[in-house]
Amino acid sequence: MFGFGKKKYDNDPFCSYPFENVEIRPTGEVYFCCQGWIRENSIGNIYKTPFHEIWNSDTARAIRRSILNGDYKFCDRKICGFCPARHPEVHILGAVDGHYALPPKTVFFAPSYECNLSCVVCRKDRIFTSDARLNKLKSQIDSVFLPIFSGVESVGFSGSGDPFADRFCRELVGRTAASYPNIRFFFHTNGVLASPEMLQSLGVLNRMNNIQVSLHSATSETWKKFTRGSDDQYSALMDNLKFISDLRRDGRLPYFVLSFVVASFNYHELIDFVRLAQSLGADKISVWGYRNGGSVYDGVADEVEGANIQTDAEASAFSVHTPPHAEYGKLGEILRHPVFSDPKIELYPEIKKIRDEALQEAGV
Ligand code: SF4
Ligand code: SF4
Repeated sequence: MFGFGKKKYDNDPFCSYPFENVEIRPTGEVYFCCQGWIRENSIGNIYKTPFHEIWNSDTARAIRRSILNGDYKFCDRKICGFCPARHPEVHILGAVDGHYALPPKTVFFAPSYECNLSCVVCRKDRIFTSDARLNKLKSQIDSVFLPIFSGVESVGFSGSGDPFADRFCRELVGRTAASYPNIRFFFHTNGVLASPEMLQSLGVLNRMNNIQVSLHSATSETWKKFTRGSDDQYSALMDNLKFISDLRRDGRLPYFVLSFVVASFNYHELIDFVRLAQSLGADKISVWGYRNGGSVYDGVADEVEGANIQTDAEASAFSVHTPPHAEYGKLGEILRHPVFSDPKIELYPEIKKIRDEALQEAGV
């Protein structure tokens, strides 16, 4: 009846992302998962096409067919965070020719690049949305953005700027909370502005299903070096982390993630970062390698004067996880530490490979 037998998947992992998830970039391009993982295969652009057409566009259907037939030809499985479901739900297997009738369960939206920090791996200076773009975005809330969330269970914000520093994002979060009382929220933030007052004012304090804070350090010195932030901002971040940790322990927040991008100037704090994340009660502790993100700014040039287009030499100097970096071996020694056996730790493939090699060399 469905064209694909359930039995086919009994022993193989199955990726349900293209049936349940979309990520929307500041350019308006829509992807089923991380833009890099799916090799830049956008399924459409919200500024050109209504979202309900994008969801079943030709590219969307082709990607779904490749998941259903098991060839995954659009996917870069070497870097993808692949979230396998061993038994796809029966209605997913019923997506004949890749056409899928249900809306996504999760929409992750990065509306712009505005942020209160300027991390050295991300940009050269702070980025602000221009007034013209800000006004245009605000004028599209009812016509373009809110309809995307109809029928959706959970909406995540940011991944490009900071959801609480970005003026447009704050307005959209507040409008979404007011328009869809059953939607749950997920935020990816640097944490500096993720205060109780901020969450309360946006109407999301008791409606979050997940908050991910990018920390990248275990000390204020390294955090300031990474983010170009101030002592006051670090102090606010620590207060907010304590508050988020308490929310999680009280059961008012179902999931809490802390993350770390490995670069040459912070990797020596990895073990202490993991211990800090454990002490804060994080459910997941994510670690991945630095990537030169300069190209992601293409298409929004009016907004990104401070964007970081790193030179090859700068990118190589940061990329401690890539041989022949002089400190690659030291990173392996650190990753050999037993603290990384904690099942809450998610090492992305490029970092896991280094740990596996280091353990093998040590005969562990
Ligand atoms: S397998 Fe990976 S790249 Fe492919 S759709 Fe799933 S998450 Fe994306
Ligand atoms: S990495 Fe995140 S916190 Fe840092 S400048 Fe970029 S968007 Fe802001």
